Amino acid sequence: MIRRSRLILGIGVLLIAIFVMLSISLLSDDEESTDGPTHAWSYDGETGPEYWDEIEHLGSACGGARQSPINIIECFTENVEEAVLNFEINYAPYTKIHDVLNNGHTIQYSFERGDFVVYNNERFDLLQMHFHEPAEHTVNGIRYPLELHMVHRGKHDNFLVLSIMVQEGLSSEPFQFLEDYLPLQEHEKKVVHAGYDLNQNLPEILDHFIYAGSLTTPPCTEAVEWIVFKYPITVSHDQVSALKVLMPTNNYRLEQDLNDRTVTLHIVE
Ligand SMILES: [Zn+2]
Repeated sequence: MIRRSRLILGIGVLLIAIFVMLSISLLSDDEESTDGPTHAWSYDGETGPEYWDEIEHLGSACGGARQSPINIIECFTENVEEAVLNFEINYAPYTKIHDVLNNGHTIQYSFERGDFVVYNNERFDLLQMHFHEPAEHTVNGIRYPLELHMVHRGKHDNFLVLSIMVQEGLSSEPFQFLEDYLPLQEHEKKVVHAGYDLNQNLPEILDHFIYAGSLTTPPCTEAVEWIVFKYPITVSHDQVSALKVLMPTNNYRLEQDLNDRTVTLHIVE
């Protein structure tokens, strides 16, 4: 009997361990899928952004005072000498994209490890990039047709997101490379395993705004350094449309109150 109850206890412990491991693996390491499997949220209706705080009652920060996105008004920002903060982008000329996923909230490209940025002497590893249509942050009241988020993670469950605004104009070759893997059905994933020069997706002039904010999707965790580039990159109308049709309509969160936060402007010579 003792042996049997020990066996049952052992199986119990094993099952709990498997459950915990599964839960951890479901809490994937990116901005868009940090929502747990049981929490349904959307960009529309009763599960839309104005209700995220209620839906995500367990550990949600969606009603917090340091939320993202915000409207960045340049004349209210503080000018900071670049030397004060060190910010360095370390993207290899051939960053490997592991896969592309339509997760039902956005189109997301995940990277193989190796690329990173350094901010304030801390390393943040590049995980993934995804899109919002139209943009979430507004700059001087302008909402661009698309915003690209490059999500990086630090060592303390903190994030750094590079935000790149996209305007419509001439078509972009690097964007075409990305879109060659589309379309994708909802929850469909394609393995890419191909090299790509991410630097080509950065604006020519790297002036940027910095502020402390949150993930823009539930659970809206307030542990994100936001680096929002001032100038947009250009892609064609068709390239914007190719993403738009695959994502939920208006997959953006409205601007949040700045409260007591400061936004700094960094001019890159
Ligand atoms: Zn995002």
